[in-house]
Amino acid sequence: MGAPRLTVALTVDHDAISDAVRRGDPPVKISHGEFGSRVGIKRILALLGSRAIPATFFVPGHTLTTFTDDTEAIVAGGHELACHGWFHEDFAELGVDQTREVLGRSVEAVRAVTGAAPTGFRAPYWSLGPQTLELVEAAGFVYDSSLMADDYDLYRVRRGDRHSMPDGTQWGAPGKLVEVPVYWAMDDWPHFEPGPGRPGLSAPSAVLEIWTEELAYAHEHAQGGLVMITVHPECIGRGHRMAMLERFIEAAVALDGVVFERLDAIVDRWAVANS
Ligand SMILES: [Zn+2]
Repeated sequence: MGAPRLTVALTVDHDAISDAVRRGDPPVKISHGEFGSRVGIKRILALLGSRAIPATFFVPGHTLTTFTDDTEAIVAGGHELACHGWFHEDFAELGVDQTREVLGRSVEAVRAVTGAAPTGFRAPYWSLGPQTLELVEAAGFVYDSSLMADDYDLYRVRRGDRHSMPDGTQWGAPGKLVEVPVYWAMDDWPHFEPGPGRPGLSAPSAVLEIWTEELAYAHEHAQGGLVMITVHPECIGRGHRMAMLERFIEAAVALDGVVFERLDAIVDRWAVANS
């Protein structure tokens, strides 16, 4: 079966308080993450359910095991559970043994819920060490979603790239791991959440313009392509931003030949076509 004219992947990083716990953050920061479980994810699941849209949820192990009602609701909604660290670790800071331990524990936590190993991994902060993705592949994952070398097309992650001075770059060979690329402009967080180097709190109309222009361009120029959206319940879950997400979905539905799919389904189809 051929690819749809355009596929939209809604991906939800359900970080909740996992990173705040790891950092020992104060109460307000904890409450910011708690909003994601208490309010945000319920609104997202209701919106997806009302339109029968399947999505992929990247859930840190801490969220998975702390907010078990959310985990059950995600699975009951027909959505995909994928891994996103345990305490939302920065994988660039982890050694090989720590990486293996976090990946292994995360896989088992998902397996305990769904009965099957997850196929997808996304690095928190999209932050990877030089060996992280080799370890992700070795842990049995089928795809990663943390890199941005492409936009509307998937690709295989290379292993063994070497970049050094003064020799320059020697490319490695593609491995098995499939990359489903991401980008900051298509992520709610850099637009809305204040932080170092960014003002945050953007008007939703500005973000809607970026997302719908991306949608229109891909629809026109990337037959069979993918538009990847990343959202966080504690961020997109605020009312004015949920209204924007709803408008974005309406814009996608209004285009000819657009479907919404989970990443595991998109990767399966791509792997068959590119084997
Ligand atoms: Zn995250």
